[in-house]
Amino acid sequence: MKNTEELLQFDRQHLWHPYASATEPPPVLPVRSASGVNLRLFDGTELIDGISSWWCVAHGHNHPAIRLAIEEQLGEFCQVMFAGFTHRNAARLAELLLERAPGLSRVFYADSGSVAVEVAIKMALQYQYAAGRPGRSRLVTVRGGYHGDTAGAMAVCDPAGMHRLFAPLLAQHRFLERPACAFDQAWNETFARRFREELAALDPAELAGVILEPIFQGAGGMYFYHPEYLRLLRAWCSEHDVLLIFDEIASGCGRTGKFFAMEHAGVTPDLLCVGKALTGGAITLAAVLSSERVAGVISSGEPGKFMHGPTFMANPLACAAGRASLELFATDEWRGQVAAIERQLRAELAPAATLPGVRAVRALGAVGVIELEQALSPAAILPVLLRHGVWLRPFGNFLYTMPPFIITPAELSRVTGCMLELAGSGS
Ligand SMILES: *Cc1c(COP(=O)(O)O)cnc(C)c1O
Repeated sequence: MKNTEELLQFDRQHLWHPYASATEPPPVLPVRSASGVNLRLFDGTELIDGISSWWCVAHGHNHPAIRLAIEEQLGEFCQVMFAGFTHRNAARLAELLLERAPGLSRVFYADSGSVAVEVAIKMALQYQYAAGRPGRSRLVTVRGGYHGDTAGAMAVCDPAGMHRLFAPLLAQHRFLERPACAFDQAWNETFARRFREELAALDPAELAGVILEPIFQGAGGMYFYHPEYLRLLRAWCSEHDVLLIFDEIASGCGRTGKFFAMEHAGVTPDLLCVGKALTGGAITLAAVLSSERVAGVISSGEPGKFMHGPTFMANPLACAAGRASLELFATDEWRGQVAAIERQLRAELAPAATLPGVRAVRALGAVGVIELEQALSPAAILPVLLRHGVWLRPFGNFLYTMPPFIITPAELSRVTGCMLELAGSGS
């Protein structure tokens, strides 16, 4: 490829991008380098990455500590099978993760968020099977959720959402209403009664587990709900020996202001999925954390071992990046950064609430959302993004930012200014 024109032409002819047509592809931008909050294109254009490259790059792009960790690991070895071997970065990352998750004591690595969700679902089924209850094979979730793009994960995504055409392929699970009480709304007896009634209508004898995103529903609707739901669920799950699975792939790693969003409720699940910002976005990695009890039951019953094992499980380069990312989180600098981002998002997005065509405005932690009446198309907004020097990628009618935590107030103002213009132009 001699120049960017050739790159773009090859891309149009041969590459297939996420959620995109192959033959009528949306425009793509050629990236040359990235550091901190900035993406740099070949023509010199700089864009503030307002969504942390799909919510991953929490510490900023190309963070020196994460690069160094990968380079050190590169000097030793890039990959070794995790069956029959172990290595220091796998252990150290697990240690740092478990410090963040009291009550959980086992770490199973996976390659991506979707695979972690598959693993958690299989663990829930194997737990019930090992406990002598093979009939417990269904899951419960709430509407409005998103858990990934593979078949097991799609089956617990919102059934009216992006994966509905795959319905014939998918396992049949049980869906509760989307938690109606929002995060900063007052909890009351009506909400509690309605949720308890929904739980009472379930049949625990067919259920292996409940899976949901705690507090923050991401790709299914950019919505924050009340912590009390998680406390009620925890009690119900314990009573019926149904496993509680939290998918913290989007909500974890500081995004909502706590390291894990479940801390807003003070609730511990039986299984916990992490991914996305785990490596600071440097390289793909995810994990499922399990309680000692669940790991013990799975390992004691038939067939005496957990039946899953990805080829690249616990890849050393990925574990090195994850270890460095968790060490950055351990400084706790992100707490003040995320709190400041939340204050600024609340203040600067508030004026959007009165714009025609805007349905709602909300923020929690380093997530700011303008919910519109109508969808914005990524292609149509590109000229506005380029003019502001900001990268955003709304989905459907959700215009949102999830910036790197290191963003400065001036940079964040450019992001929110761009969002206000887009919200105003959408009506
Ligand atoms: C992104 C996401 C996933 C899927 O992760 P991938 O790495 O894209 O497979 C699962 N659950 C939640 C909550 C997510 O946001």
